[in-house]
Amino acid sequence: MPLLVSHIAAVTGAGSGIGRAIAAGYAREGARVVLLDINEKAAAEAAQEVRSAGGAADSFALDVTDRAACVALAKTIADTVGPVSILVNNAGINRRNAFTSDPDAVIKDWEDIMAINLTGTFNVTHAFIESLRATRGRIVNIGSIQSFVHVRTPNSAAYTASKHGVLGFTKALAAELGKHGVRVNAIGPGFIETPLNAQVRANNPDLVKIFLDHTPLGRAGKPEDIVGPAIFLASDLSAFVTGSIVMADGGYRTV
Ligand code: NAP
Repeated sequence: MPLLVSHIAAVTGAGSGIGRAIAAGYAREGARVVLLDINEKAAAEAAQEVRSAGGAADSFALDVTDRAACVALAKTIADTVGPVSILVNNAGINRRNAFTSDPDAVIKDWEDIMAINLTGTFNVTHAFIESLRATRGRIVNIGSIQSFVHVRTPNSAAYTASKHGVLGFTKALAAELGKHGVRVNAIGPGFIETPLNAQVRANNPDLVKIFLDHTPLGRAGKPEDIVGPAIFLASDLSAFVTGSIVMADGGYRTV
């Protein structure tokens, strides 16, 4: 029996990598999926892939940093697709410049990363909150091993701060929305091979080695490795789970 029948699931950053895999996985479990991405073409292609596989999918362009656009699109989706009962805040970026490098670059990294990874998560959640309350919905935020650790992954203060913020936001909202029956959890992916880290994989084998040397399962993850935890947190399998982060990191954080 599919686990997400009769749900409508919105996924940000769904044109690529982890978000794309989660959207496809939710559709396989019977959810109608709404793929949102700043890259409209990528979201449309991913939605077409879902439909070709027999699923139900719509796609829309959305820049999660644009609060007014988030509000407007949430209304459009409520009117044309229906009430969103699962929200995955997945859109995110990373850049690695040392804090002591070119100040303009460091400031721009901070502003962009916080705007997308943390404020974007706020913007989209706030925009969809009425639908999520009405459906006693589920929010799944994408954190990171950098929601906890930083020592082995230098030159990413902004990213680490943003992902600590995502985990803090997850816990705070879980505490506040529990009485409305809305569950709020996070996933902490380890090193997952996606376009987000294609440059690191191509140009910085030492950093990749640091990750893999500390990963008991001894391999990098694939986007598909995040799908199971995402289905678990969106479905009734996790009916008594809120405020948690499920680490899908090959064991990185444990050792
Ligand atoms: P990805 O393949 O680069 O996918 C991210 C998607 O988000 C892209 O389609 C990107 O579009 C889109 N996006 C960027 N800015 C956006 C914005 N302002 N509004 C809406 N969409 C936007 O990256 P990924 O690896 O799948 O990452 C997904 C999430 O997992 C992120 O939150 C990331 O921090 C987290 N994560 C990833 C890893 C990993 O190892 N890959 C590990 C831990 C956590 P463009 O391509 O056009 O920019």
